[in-house]
Amino acid sequence: MHFRPTRAEIDRDALHHNARIARQLAGDARLLGVIKADGYGHGVLTVAEAISEHVDAFAVAFIDEAITIRNAGFQQPIVLLEGCFSDAELPVCAHHNFQPVVHQQQQLDAILMARLVRPLAVWLKVDTGMHRLGWAPNEVQRVHDELKASPQVGSVTLMSHFANAEKHVHPLNNKQLELFEDVCAQTESQLDMSLATSAALVSSAIDMSQHNGHWIRTGILLYGDNPVEKAMPLPQPLKPVMRLIAPVIAIRDVAKGESVGYGSTWKAERPSRIATIAIGYADGYPRHAKNGTPVVIRDHEVPLAGTVSMDMITVDVTDFAEITVGDEAELWGPNLSVARVAQHAGTISYDLLTNVSARVPRVTR
Ligand SMILES: *Cc1c(COP(=O)(O)O)cnc(C)c1O
Repeated sequence: MHFRPTRAEIDRDALHHNARIARQLAGDARLLGVIKADGYGHGVLTVAEAISEHVDAFAVAFIDEAITIRNAGFQQPIVLLEGCFSDAELPVCAHHNFQPVVHQQQQLDAILMARLVRPLAVWLKVDTGMHRLGWAPNEVQRVHDELKASPQVGSVTLMSHFANAEKHVHPLNNKQLELFEDVCAQTESQLDMSLATSAALVSSAIDMSQHNGHWIRTGILLYGDNPVEKAMPLPQPLKPVMRLIAPVIAIRDVAKGESVGYGSTWKAERPSRIATIAIGYADGYPRHAKNGTPVVIRDHEVPLAGTVSMDMITVDVTDFAEITVGDEAELWGPNLSVARVAQHAGTISYDLLTNVSARVPRVTR
């Protein structure tokens, strides 16, 4: 039971809709539904339930996230995108059909040394230019052969990760794609592979047509945000899944020349009406949102006026006399894309969605 009306509404139908679009775009490829970080802040079990019929497996960052999903009764394979942190995780992986990424030597050694009840499906990560995780291309053959020779390993999927897939044109994209294809070709012809994420799937610039039958790792698309600068035409528009809502709790007149909020960063250039809304950075509304960041109230876009506080924000509603205490403001959602808000806050939609804090109830519709 919550008295404060501030909430994140989660639209189940939109999850189904977006997952269907991802499925259509993926063609023959298999889909890995990425639901790390509590389903990008939407509530992982809600997301898992909605997308489970549309995806072939789930992916999370680490084993604790996978255990939450397994304990809720979902049976799909779950890929651990960072692999294991310690040897103790391997029996748990074997027991639960978690599929760890293997990106460095300690992880490889641990698998080769383990004695597991059943062989693991592992994902061998190649560093094709992101330089964050993975083996150098010239190490892949050796690692692949060692894994394949081990009784602890049932299957190996080769994977890599783009550093710039959301950019329309970036020289590294083709370079990474070519490197990955070379490595795959040298390793084994029937190998499973995975390179594309949401951005590569919808990008009009990255040609993944050779990757039919492979795994596409899709996260942000499921939540209704299109991450690329220039997307290919989609069969239908994506639907935002989260609608972040908070009430107007005060309205006041502010004389010309007065300022609003901490640091007095906003000054009234005319006699103004200021609405105070019950959401702040402790709820995950970005503290760095600049003056002018849009907020929607009664179908009107009104600009943020003043620094974001811990529990409140202030907006300029001078032009809309009908806005009143008790009105609900949409901070992002179907009427205001989270990507636009992110741009005003100098960040990306992933950051905003995953940072909606635990004190904001998720209400599934
Ligand atoms: C989070 C993550 C993804 C999902 O990326 P989206 O841009 O949300 O589709 C895919 N692959 C890896 C390795 C990830 O860490």
